[in-house]
Amino acid sequence: MAGDEMAEVIRYEEVCISYRNVPVVRNLSFALEEGEILGIVGESGSGKSTLIKAPMGLLGREGEVTGGRILFGNVNLPELKEEEVRKYCGSKIGMVFQNAGASFHPIRTIREQLYEAVREHEAVSLAEFEERAEEMLRKFSFDDTKRILDAYPFELSGGMQQRVALASAMLLKPRLLMADEPTSALDVTVQKQVMEEMLLAREEMGTSILLVTHNIGLVRRMADKVLVLKDGECVEYGRTEDILNHPQAEYTRKLLDSVPRLRRKGQD
Ligand code: ADP
Ligand code: MG
Repeated sequence: MAGDEMAEVIRYEEVCISYRNVPVVRNLSFALEEGEILGIVGESGSGKSTLIKAPMGLLGREGEVTGGRILFGNVNLPELKEEEVRKYCGSKIGMVFQNAGASFHPIRTIREQLYEAVREHEAVSLAEFEERAEEMLRKFSFDDTKRILDAYPFELSGGMQQRVALASAMLLKPRLLMADEPTSALDVTVQKQVMEEMLLAREEMGTSILLVTHNIGLVRRMADKVLVLKDGECVEYGRTEDILNHPQAEYTRKLLDSVPRLRRKGQD
């Protein structure tokens, strides 16, 4: 149906990715619909970051998409040059990484950096930008928004940097947010805050989210669907409650087991 196709934001079709001709992602297929949150889980080294970097041309010199397609609309993203990717979908696809603070320039204010990021895609005046940035920061639970814009990255805590990075990605109202372990370096309280902010982004802007994490609790609370990755291959893909409550693969069971047992031991 045409209506269904239009609601699809990104589609991976039998995607294969190698580093120096060593395959690390094999025949991976999934799609994300508008407003959908897909959690991608799998042990370390299973290819989670690789599959998130691929569409944006961030695999580095050694990485290559060797097969399949990653369709955004009807454009196959790996076919574009890095510059074209940025132009084509830099405003439509937002990204947040684990230590987002590290990607801020150390001696330029948050205002300068956010303004530059927005101006790369839109002709906005500084005043317009400030209004929008402050509104977004307020949504993301910052009260003293002027102070945040005036700040240098080192004046903010890691958790604040992460939340500013998320707000910054959302300033362009992307259709898709790709988040790679966005809360893994944060303490539990800030983790919860970031999670709620991502959910808010979905609710208010209909943003789809590709959420890579090893935090099963986060997946349970946020994701509509889950894809379980092992050695670059999909072992299970389906609705979150089905996968988490009735895992079919032994690998998934182990992955799920490793978390709650530890937590129960610590709490009881
Ligand atoms: P995950 O995010 O699930 O931990 P990655 O996508 O980072 O996994 O890595 C998948 C596999 O690709 C791993 O075996 C890793 O060692 C390998 N890999 C990642 N980046 C590179 C690279 N630049 N060069 C060679 N191998 C890489
Ligand atoms: Mg990773």
